[in-house]
Amino acid sequence: MKKLMTLFAAMVLTVLTAQVALAADTLAEVKKKGVLVAGVKDSLPPFGYIDEKSREIVGYDIDFVKYIAKKLGVKVELKPVTSASRMPQLMEGNIDIIAATMTKNPERAKQIDFSYTYFLTGQKFITKKGQVKTLKDLQGKKIGTAKGSTSEQNVSKAIPTATVLSFDDYPQAFLALQQGKVAAVTTDESILAGILGKAPNRSKFEIPNLQISEEPYGLGMRKDDKNFVAFVNKTLLEMEKNGEAKKIFEKWFGPKTATPLKRTFKINADK
Ligand code: GLU
Repeated sequence: MKKLMTLFAAMVLTVLTAQVALAADTLAEVKKKGVLVAGVKDSLPPFGYIDEKSREIVGYDIDFVKYIAKKLGVKVELKPVTSASRMPQLMEGNIDIIAATMTKNPERAKQIDFSYTYFLTGQKFITKKGQVKTLKDLQGKKIGTAKGSTSEQNVSKAIPTATVLSFDDYPQAFLALQQGKVAAVTTDESILAGILGKAPNRSKFEIPNLQISEEPYGLGMRKDDKNFVAFVNKTLLEMEKNGEAKKIFEKWFGPKTATPLKRTFKINADK
């Protein structure tokens, strides 16, 4: 009888341990390991790109992650991801958080959790100057974008007759535009502005005033990782309140930058 009891107790313990292992507690884990591993873009100025001088990845997304890590008292490790790889990387446990120009939407929210919106933009196009006035001008044309993005889905809906060519990332799509292989590149205006800002022959291109969607960005975390989501959201609200979020926006999108944009949002509890 005693033996049976011990066996039963051992079984209960195994089940309990397995359950603890299943429920992600990234907040506790990150504190324990002393590092926050963030999945970021590394070729999309001004969100995440390699700084020519320091050779380090810098940008708007990176500054948010750094603030969160500082608040946690841990170091940051930046791991480059693409639009298509960021969710699998998170779900497989290779990164702790996604800070990579990622739009929050109900479809993605079935698989991962999102923070409050920390950036807001909308989807537009880069085209050769003077060629596109309305969406009709893009009908039946080839349009470049990135695999696994909302841009890919939105453009197929907005211009069903277009042929969408999906690349690993947007700089490759822009190269295709420069080589005349596509008539336009489409994604978030903020990303397009960053690409144009860096292009040596930018005077040949433009971003016509044609917006096909709203794209609110959220930081991505594992599903039901409640403590971590709550911590990140609390930190974002603090950043809005103490002016840090606005400061980061001005640093990357202020009037003196290559990508001047207006801050049309405030971080608030939007869920
Ligand atoms: N924000 C859009 C998305 O999450 C487009 C930019 C990107 O591919 O990261 O899909």
